Parts: sequence; structure tokens; C-alpha cells
Amino acid sequence: MKTVPSNQHIYAFAPDLAPVGTIAVGESACFDALDALGGQIRAETDILSGLDFNRVNPATGPVRIENVGPGDTLIVQVLSIDMEDQGAIVTGPGLGVLADEIENHATRILPIRDGWVHFGDLALVARPMIGVIGVAPESGSFPTGTAHRHGGNMDTKEIGVGATVYLPVFQDGAMLAMGDVHAVMGDGEVCVSACEVAARITVQVDRVEGRSPQWPMVETETAVHILVSLPTVEEALVEATRQTVAFLQTARGLSKEDAYMLASLAVDIGISQLVDPNKTAKASIPKSVLPAPLAEIL
Ligand code: CA
Repeated sequence: MKTVPSNQHIYAFAPDLAPVGTIAVGESACFDALDALGGQIRAETDILSGLDFNRVNPATGPVRIENVGPGDTLIVQVLSIDMEDQGAIVTGPGLGVLADEIENHATRILPIRDGWVHFGDLALVARPMIGVIGVAPESGSFPTGTAHRHGGNMDTKEIGVGATVYLPVFQDGAMLAMGDVHAVMGDGEVCVSACEVAARITVQVDRVEGRSPQWPMVETETAVHILVSLPTVEEALVEATRQTVAFLQTARGLSKEDAYMLASLAVDIGISQLVDPNKTAKASIPKSVLPAPLAEIL
């Protein structure tokens, strides 16, 4: 299996990315990812204000996928996430949801052992997830910290082991890159970071030819989630709702009003993260209201 080393990474998703390798549809590959802090936080005396911000949010890749092009969907199934045994969480003045209320920089080192993340005397169940995953956008250059239609820093906890990510493809070869693994994170990621940890991510890629969603989607065991990232939470929530109604209309052949009502009855409109330059909303649609597997109804 091909492995992309962690020193082959990007800091922006742009239309003209040069690939570091190529894999075929149906193939699996490993992406070795630094943590989102670029490995610069190793002790609790390392604080965010001392960081080289040019090294934040590295995304390993990009990898070209053979026979995938504009208008297709890239399907990325997350097979495994093998984390290092230590993560870190940071916060400080000006950061996160309570930016104006926090007075001191703080760093906590979180040991990860046997599926548990240790925060002081608390142990939390590890639920590893991929914070940054995306492809080359249609136009413009997006820093890896900014999410949009190409994916990027969506910080969505559902993108974990067993999940499948559906990304609209804009450029030949898609140019897949990923990183920013969190050992555990709550919706919102309120303090600006989660349990940031280096990891080896193993994925298998596939595609849907000639059809793609407007925004990235992730499929879990019980639901499909539409992930919309825009400058404000309100914009993201409204667009996620709009996308949900359009998706239900097409998938079930409903009128706009019926799809709107079904969304109101069955779909959870929620938050992935509130702290990145674009905020990410997620519309969680239970599979029980869908007539067919997602790849057939995109
Ligand atoms: Ca992130």
C-alpha cells in the first residue's frame, strides 16, 4: 500500500496543486499526518503565542486519483486512524467562541492510551476524526484552515473510522489531501482546538462518475450529513437547510414544500465547528428517509 509521508504536505488547497503521488480508484493508501499545530506543541510550557503559524494546519498530500475529473464525486472511505500516544489542546486570548473572555494562554498535553484520552483526572473515550480533508477547488486558493465546497478544515466529528466522505471534484485527479486528526472533539470545537494528534490515516478511494454534490457529504452507519462552511454560522445553517431540501426533493421526488416539511420532521441541523475562518454547519439526514444508497442519489 502506498504511504504519503507527513513531510509531503500543503498549507493551501488551490486549483493547480502538483501531486506527490497517484493512486487508482479502488486502491487504498496511508496518509501520515502531523498534528494541526505542526508538531510544535510537545509540553505544557509550549503555548500558542510562541507558535510559527506558517506551520499550522499541514494537510498531507495532495494525491492524484486516476480517472477522476471535474463533475465527478471522490469517495473516501476511512479505514483506520492510528494515533500517536500523545495529543495536545491549546487555547488563549482572542481564540474560540469566548475569545474576548479568556485571559491566559493554556496548553494541556493529553496522553492517549488503550482507546482513552486522558485530560487531567478525566478519561474520555477516543473517537478519532479527520479535521482537514479536501481536494483542489474550482478557483481561488483556500488556506488549509478554511473550509468551503472543496472540503478543507471542516472539523466534523463524524469523519471518523468507518465513515465515508463524498467530495465534489473540480480538477483532474481531484488532488486529495488530509490531516488535522483529533483524538476526540465535541461539536463546536469551542476553545479553538481539540485533542490535536499526529496519526496515520488509511483510506480507500472510489468515485461516482458525472455527478457530484454541491457541498461535501459524509456517510455514517445511520445518517448522511451535508457539510456547509461559510463565513457566518447563520449563513452556514441556512445553506445547509437549503441543500437538505433540494437533496430530499431530488432523492424522493418531492415538492419543495413536502421536502421542507420532511426536513423539519426528520433532519437535525447542527454545528460541526464554530471557530475556523468559515463556520461549518451539518445537516444530518437519517438513512431511513432515503430511498437508495447515497452514491445512487447524489
Ligand atoms: Ca481543525
